Amino acid sequence: VLVKLLVCGGGNGAHVLTGLASSRHNVKVNVLSLFADEAERWRNTLADNHSVVNFREKDGSNKIITSRPNMITNDASKAVPGCNLVIFTVPAFAHEGYFRAIAPYLEPNTVIVGLPSQPGFQFQACDLLGMGGRTSAIVSFESLPWACRIGTFGREVQVLGPKDTLACAIIMRGCKPLFPVLKTIQYVIGKEPKLTMAANYLSINLLADAVVHPPMMYGTWKDWDGKPVAEKPLFYQGLNEFSADLLDKVSTELVQTAKAIHQKYPDMDMKDVIHLFDWYKLNYKESIKDMSSLRMAMKTCTAYDGLVHPMKETPDKKFVPDFTYRYMTEDIPFGMVVFRGISELAGVPTPAMDETIIWGQKILGKEFLVNGKLQGKDMNLTRAPQRFHFNSLFDLVNLR
Ligand code: NAD
Repeated sequence: VLVKLLVCGGGNGAHVLTGLASSRHNVKVNVLSLFADEAERWRNTLADNHSVVNFREKDGSNKIITSRPNMITNDASKAVPGCNLVIFTVPAFAHEGYFRAIAPYLEPNTVIVGLPSQPGFQFQACDLLGMGGRTSAIVSFESLPWACRIGTFGREVQVLGPKDTLACAIIMRGCKPLFPVLKTIQYVIGKEPKLTMAANYLSINLLADAVVHPPMMYGTWKDWDGKPVAEKPLFYQGLNEFSADLLDKVSTELVQTAKAIHQKYPDMDMKDVIHLFDWYKLNYKESIKDMSSLRMAMKTCTAYDGLVHPMKETPDKKFVPDFTYRYMTEDIPFGMVVFRGISELAGVPTPAMDETIIWGQKILGKEFLVNGKLQGKDMNLTRAPQRFHFNSLFDLVNLR
């Protein structure tokens, strides 16, 4: 079968995906970038050349993959028709524009993939894909398969390393694709990471790594006096008691939400959703020096060595927190507020999430949570299920 792939995006991940996919037999790749003049710049920069993916394998060896996509455009009417696989590889705040752009041109039985999906992808997809996407399957991945960055825009991208495994959830919605979904995506990205299936899409949502950033921002900056600081504080290594305690509580609220869903709908297997501390014990056991508590585990995880808070420099070479960074602007509306929305439908109280959101929305100048309900005027900027007409737990579990 010929896979006709549409890549949506134009950043680091989109460069890697485009390069790898275009090098496969029987995969034809169109790229759609809606951001400013990015498509034109990419097309002109590539010109008649081949693009290069410089892929550092697990064993440290380097592989060079050269290829060319079929098309790079900002015009959905040219890029979408005929495509049977669509992969979003772009930050979540840009998803809405892509959903709206592709919806009129989607053919029946298309497979739509979020690589990564980030919380609420499925709700937004169902709402915005409209008639065209009524029989689209929705595949959500928990993260990007690679740590990667563009070397030369449009020409060369580096994969610093693939993940070991990467989980996804698939919602078929009656889709009858021409190819086996997971196997085909694995073929497109190559053999690493090994793609696996999570039990369901709700656990992918409740496990998102967006969970750690807003509580840590809140815990660090809630009492900040507004004066610039001399150094960029360490993000994980500097984790304070308050933030760690809040993370523990938020994580417990997510686990309780998963349990409540399983209790009401026993065939919803939610056991993937585990407490953050247990998650560290599973995923980072080699890299953590002190596993005595969640706080110490996060502070002593060598994978985080030297990572600092997102900061802006002031004219006198001091620093203030950068609240426009994705830890706030993405991980609240496309993270914390989505978790809160799912917990609300599951009937689980979330005082720790609420405390975080109430601080975060003030910093962002937005209103999401008002009088204990997700009813603020800016809810349309979020991906909570309620925004997309999912108003009960029944609605959530019936999305399959
Ligand atoms: P990126 O930072 O390269 O994305 C930038 C792209 O986003 C731009 O090229 C453009 O296409 C789009 N964009 C930027 N501003 C826009 C705007 N105002 N309107 C519309 N589009 C706009 O992203 P990435 O590194 O490819 O990562 C994709 C996702 O994967 C992100 O959510 C990221 O957090 C996640 N992720 C990335 C890595 C990595 O190593 N790069 C690792 C893990 C997870």
